[in-house]
Amino acid sequence: MEKDTTLTDTFGRTHTYLRISLTEKCNLRCTYCMPADGIMLTPREHLMTTDEIYTIAQQFVALGVTKIRLTGGEPMVRKDFPLILKKLSSLAVEIGITTNGILADRFLPILKEANVKTITISIDSLYRDKFKKITRRDEFEKVWNTIQLFQKEGFSVKLNIVLIKGFNDTEIIDFIKLTKNQNITIRFIEFMPFDGNEWNMDKLVTYQDILDKVNYVFPLQLKRLNDAPNDTSRNYKINGYLGSFAIISSVTNPFCDTCNRIRLTADGKLKNCLFSEEEFSLLKPLRANQSILPTIKKALHHKFATRGGMDTPDKIQNPNLHTKNRSMIAIGG
Ligand code: SAM
Ligand code: SF4
Repeated sequence: MEKDTTLTDTFGRTHTYLRISLTEKCNLRCTYCMPADGIMLTPREHLMTTDEIYTIAQQFVALGVTKIRLTGGEPMVRKDFPLILKKLSSLAVEIGITTNGILADRFLPILKEANVKTITISIDSLYRDKFKKITRRDEFEKVWNTIQLFQKEGFSVKLNIVLIKGFNDTEIIDFIKLTKNQNITIRFIEFMPFDGNEWNMDKLVTYQDILDKVNYVFPLQLKRLNDAPNDTSRNYKINGYLGSFAIISSVTNPFCDTCNRIRLTADGKLKNCLFSEEEFSLLKPLRANQSILPTIKKALHHKFATRGGMDTPDKIQNPNLHTKNRSMIAIGG
């Protein structure tokens, strides 16, 4: 049988990883993600329903998607989160969740039932006051306890940390030290520019900055690990430590060559790249009882080689290009 090429783009990259944003809403207000004035929420009737999410996901799985990640906004604030998870767990895919961890404890049994093995929790500081400053909410303890709970319950736990110069770059080593006795993965993410998040190059903590810091504190102890195929992170560990750490460097070292990701926004639009301004509505044809395949094909066909067309340092630093894209909260990270 001939291989279906619907999910292969013009650069020969086959997309097997679908990231679905369940909502534009969130119970935190991270400054790098949510603009200070909030965002205009999409009216409910234009958001995907539980069944629409399932139908679209089912079609992607039939086309060759093997992994689905639920994200947002905060995926767990959606009332039908348990039902969505249950339905998607009937598909032959690995399911991942990225969450801020505030509500995760109450869904623990449901996550286990759905066979979710890995949970990615965002936490940008190990200090309560700094956590409050960046998330605009006083929820550090809740998130920290959830991280401990999920480890105890046998989940593989990854922590996402967006590094911002002068804010939390002083905590890089503290985060890595958590991996000494805890089998967790720390993922440092370079701060990326999106509409309304006041990004600029001076706030960026680069891949190289991170490695320099680690090499200074742990000379000769840093070990480069093998990255999985299509990994967006470069993986390391400190010799003798239980856990590991990784760096996601979309700004200074993009990993676009091996990209296998495609994103579906809560209002049912495909984005072929986090940085791309172009969007392709799947909800429109779906609600008109038409096939969504031509739109999926078109979205893949339009995918740029690098960062949605922002392929040079000049372009990624151009604020006019940032405002053409959505805010991160409405894309689904
Ligand atoms: N609410 C969930 C959470 O915070 O984990 C899921 C959605 S959030 C948009 C997904 C991930 O994107 C989080 O780890 C967050 O830290 C990251 N993120 C948001 N804005 C970002 C930015 N401007 N640059 C880099 N990462 C960002
Ligand atoms: Fe909410 Fe996650 Fe964005 Fe923070 S990063 S505002 S928790 S969606």
